[in-house]
Amino acid sequence: MNFYILTLFPDMVMQGLNTSIIGRASEKGLLHIEAINIRDYTKDKHKKVDDYPYGGGAGMLMQAQPVYDAWKSVVDRVGYQPRCVYLTPQGSVFHQTQAKSLAQEKDLILLCGHYEGIDERVLEEIVTDYVSIGDYVLTGGELPAMVLVDAISRMVPGVLTNDESGCTESLEGNLLEYPQYSRPEEWNGKKVPAILLSGDHAKVDAWRRQQSILRTAERRPDLLEKAQLTEKERIQIQKNLQEN
Ligand code: SAM
Repeated sequence: MNFYILTLFPDMVMQGLNTSIIGRASEKGLLHIEAINIRDYTKDKHKKVDDYPYGGGAGMLMQAQPVYDAWKSVVDRVGYQPRCVYLTPQGSVFHQTQAKSLAQEKDLILLCGHYEGIDERVLEEIVTDYVSIGDYVLTGGELPAMVLVDAISRMVPGVLTNDESGCTESLEGNLLEYPQYSRPEEWNGKKVPAILLSGDHAKVDAWRRQQSILRTAERRPDLLEKAQLTEKERIQIQKNLQEN
């Protein structure tokens, strides 16, 4: 999968995405991640990319021309208009299902704003998706773009090894993952739950499912409403909630 990140801070983005699992997948050729410096496309002789907003107000706005030309350079290269995601607090909040869906794309353009944002006219022209990473405001779209690249890349076949497989993780089926333990069997006076040492895989699976449901009920009851639970499991949750 190919990511094209339009940004004023290419080094920040590339440094963050060159390490660990994502870096390894890029080396193997499973991912191509490229940061395109919007400033390289300005026609301003002083290399300026921002200006005051019409109508007044605080801060500066990124101008349409350099953003459009940076986007066009990618479109001309790949020969069509790939989906273009603008990272913005005004977008719909990013979710695991969206990561899976975007991982089906061959090419994806991510547009990072800065200052007070970007001239609306170029957004209307090039953006296909408006995505936020949460209800707070950051100084730029670079961290959100890195979040998207990481979450989407994990869903690209081959990026995770079997050991790192993403299919039993939090948010699968709208449940959080069960608690996990590694060696030693006892640490700081706390023992690993005995069932995990029993070698009985059916019992371990049942325990994990129950823990997943309980954890989701405690920490993310909003998710549980969308999870597929049996009648027995729903009754069990009610019982547990009444007891606590
Ligand atoms: N004035 C803009 C507004 O109220 O919508 C916010 C601009 S913000 C200071 C600068 C840039 O950071 C935005 O253009 C966007 O690219 C990025 N950004 C900030 N918060 C974000 C969030 N929660 N999710 C995604 N991108 C965000």
